[in-house]
Amino acid sequence: MVNVTLLQRYQQALERVQTQIKAAAFQAQRDPKEITLIAVSKQQPIAAIEACYALGIRDFGENRSDELAQKAQQLAHLTDLKWHFIGHLQSRQSEAVARYAHYFHALDRLKIAQRLSQQLQVFNRHLPVFLQVNISGELSKSGWPCALWPEHEQERTALLNDLLTIQQLPYLQVQGLMTLLPYEAANESLLLWFKRLAQLAETLPLHSQPAARSYLSMGMSHDFQWAIAAGATHIRVGTALFGEI
Ligand SMILES: *Cc1c(COP(=O)(O)O)cnc(C)c1O
Repeated sequence: MVNVTLLQRYQQALERVQTQIKAAAFQAQRDPKEITLIAVSKQQPIAAIEACYALGIRDFGENRSDELAQKAQQLAHLTDLKWHFIGHLQSRQSEAVARYAHYFHALDRLKIAQRLSQQLQVFNRHLPVFLQVNISGELSKSGWPCALWPEHEQERTALLNDLLTIQQLPYLQVQGLMTLLPYEAANESLLLWFKRLAQLAETLPLHSQPAARSYLSMGMSHDFQWAIAAGATHIRVGTALFGEI
């Protein structure tokens, strides 16, 4: 049974977010259908996910592997629900991601890619991944450091070398790049950094098939409009849908 109060609350929030997505896409002359809204359900109860599912959302984001495992087991009957793991992943927690995640957005080092690929083999699963890039240089953010690119080409070269190694791993499928920006950054900086990530993606062989496009996972509740302006294909929205945790 879906909770009716939650349903009404999330319906309004969802309509608001979808209107903002459409407006941002329209301004950027983009098709809003190219943009996947991931409802970041971390720390939200199962009832919240069920309500959003009833409203048509199929993509959910989690950032803790134990929480992902628990929710994926409880909602296993919703077979078209997709779990996006968006958090920093420790090696010892990678099994749950290999087992339950449909996408992994925060691949931030070679070692975790190798470990995931081994575990995916055990479960005979393939996992589409986004390489996380630290495009702003903020110290607390993980990912390949690319804040000095394009001036410092060696940052791109280091990322490219790891990308080529990851593409050899049989159970991972590189989809594109992901980034997180400083929370308090000014709007102009947000747009600049998002655009820089999009430019960086264009210089990388992110797909084995030349015609396939690469994806950009960027933008959260407070900055997704700028991310869409810069070409985001996946936005990860929590607070704007579910309220403050
Ligand atoms: C929590 C989280 C989000 C969603 O943030 P909101 O500001 O609540 O929209 C997006 N991406 C990552 C990696 C997160 O951890």
